[in-house]
Amino acid sequence: MEKIMRVNLSELKTSIEDVRKEYRGLGGRGLSSHIVGKEVPPKADPLGPENKLVLAAGILAGTTVPNTGRLSVGAKSPLTNGIKEANAGGSAAQKIARLGFQAVVVEGRAKELTLLKIDKNGATFSSASALKGLGNYALIERLKKEYGHKISIVSIGPAGEKGLKAASVMVTTPDFHIRVAARGGLGAVMGSKNLKAVVIDDTGCNPVEAKDKAKFREALAGLSKAILSDPLGPAFRDLGTPALVMMINSFGCFPTKNYSLGQFGGAEKISGEYMVELMKKRPNAQPSHRCMDGCIVSCSNVYTDEKGEVIVSGLEYETIGLMGSNCMIDDLDSIASMNRVCNDVGVDTMDIGGAIAVAMEAGLLAWGDGKAALSLVKEIGKATDRGTMIGNGCKVTGEKLGVKRIPHVKGQCLSAYDPRGLKGLGVTYATSPMGGDHTAGIVLPNPGDPSYNPGSPTGQAAPSRFMQTFMAAVDSLGLCMMAGMPLLAPVPQASLLSCISALTGEPLGENYLENLGKSVLKTEKRFNDAAGYTEKDDRLPRFFLEEKLPPSGNVFDVSEQEIDSVHRF
Ligand code: SF4
Repeated sequence: MEKIMRVNLSELKTSIEDVRKEYRGLGGRGLSSHIVGKEVPPKADPLGPENKLVLAAGILAGTTVPNTGRLSVGAKSPLTNGIKEANAGGSAAQKIARLGFQAVVVEGRAKELTLLKIDKNGATFSSASALKGLGNYALIERLKKEYGHKISIVSIGPAGEKGLKAASVMVTTPDFHIRVAARGGLGAVMGSKNLKAVVIDDTGCNPVEAKDKAKFREALAGLSKAILSDPLGPAFRDLGTPALVMMINSFGCFPTKNYSLGQFGGAEKISGEYMVELMKKRPNAQPSHRCMDGCIVSCSNVYTDEKGEVIVSGLEYETIGLMGSNCMIDDLDSIASMNRVCNDVGVDTMDIGGAIAVAMEAGLLAWGDGKAALSLVKEIGKATDRGTMIGNGCKVTGEKLGVKRIPHVKGQCLSAYDPRGLKGLGVTYATSPMGGDHTAGIVLPNPGDPSYNPGSPTGQAAPSRFMQTFMAAVDSLGLCMMAGMPLLAPVPQASLLSCISALTGEPLGENYLENLGKSVLKTEKRFNDAAGYTEKDDRLPRFFLEEKLPPSGNVFDVSEQEIDSVHRF
């Protein structure tokens, strides 16, 4: 993967170049952030012609290393106005890598809505005018019929076409379910370029081969064993990420009623355990599902209705937290139906869940009213005033409705963990260049380190910095978080490093992962500083500092001095 494909939509031309010296050795988030950091003016209009949309495969993509098919989508974000990377599973990154590309960089703007097809013969453009306004589910069916079942599709729905700030980029799985590069409004960037979909076909291409095959095989065996022996693995395989519902609720950090409570009375009814029992009674439901070929954890699921019709795949913890407990909705079918509408119109369930909760706080709809919430989400696609407001995410919605308690950092809704009880994660929310986001550096209590106290007002900067650095490296490799977390331990990490060096045929420098992660964070921070961010933007909303969170009574009381130390490497 020594090539980058440049797509000039203004001229409907593509060119293929060697990976430039300054981008060598990078992949995934590392590559997308370095390209955006170097080539997009920090003060550019995110929806203007100067912005670029990067689709990057991870360093390990296209190989047989498990769980390494995350696609990094990068650009300047219309939601945060800073640099952004959002990644998703599915099959696109593996195919991009097998076609020989580390990234596809989309530049300019097409005159009309356009479809880009990439295969072993190169790239072709066609008009997508007939697909205008089409939801992602219908779009996928149309493209499958036209291009066959061996493709992967990267697409936007009507929200991306309309430039809504919570618009996301969808990626198909090998069995054509939808995974989502959800955060930061990157679907609106794709829409601003008049790009409806990218169809990727790697027919006739081979997996990416390691330079040192024997060493690679040996390291791969050790790595797979380590991922499979992670103690949390069986819980994620059996219950999916909804396994977290009861755990985070028991910590008193499950966002409830727009982050005003830390425990939800209806938690059991939206838990992974409850969901799996429900699925046993429903035809075609799959409690365990792989979002990409080569996954050995299978944390995803296929959620169906009573008749066996697929509602959504997968129904994930973050969606359940933000659209469920945070809106006081204790009905999985309502949450799954909202999730489906979000996937179809192409928006982030987390920011939309946050927006519904602030709308409930403003009295626009009643707490716990799943029907009204679903109907409001449907308005996004109809482009009503309310739908457009919600589709622009939780900050825009809260400000329009005059709500004081808006749970966002840098314009992006927080994830489904209240930072008053998980203060290291609170520091990540505050300081990550990505805005409020758990994947940027999740810090949870760790049985292996009983000395770490997640509720302490001190000692939170170091774990946040460590995890932000580690996750920036994981995102650059193309690894999913479920497989990345077990690699924190030294022995599995040694196997991972061995795989990477066998792949490239070169020894890795000392502290490879740490240096990789730091270089990504430094690039992102530099971009955001130049875009106008200051330390004042690295703060949680005041209500987290002032309101005691029931039942623990915790407030977020990590000092500004400690918060500001995070990015001083
Ligand atoms: S563990 Fe989950 S997120 Fe990771 S590749 Fe498998 S299904 Fe996808």
